[in-house]
Amino acid sequence: MENKCPKCGAKLSIFYIKQECPKCGCNLMYYNMEARLEEDAAKAEAEYAKLNEIIEKFTPKFVKKRREEKEQE
Ligand SMILES: [Zn+2]
Repeated sequence: MENKCPKCGAKLSIFYIKQECPKCGCNLMYYNMEARLEEDAAKAEAEYAKLNEIIEKFTPKFVKKRREEKEQE
């Protein structure tokens, strides 16, 4: 696996263990974490959209049922 800076693309040694990129100085650990968080956020958003879709699909039924129940009261 190639080890390189996610920001500037500078090639890093596999044994490079410092947190900062020697070329651009960006924090590699933080940068990777941020990318992962963004990924998680995107996933969460997709999940949320899915959930909304499901709610959107089923809400009319519930609303209808509620209304029917109310009418019968
Ligand atoms: Zn860099």
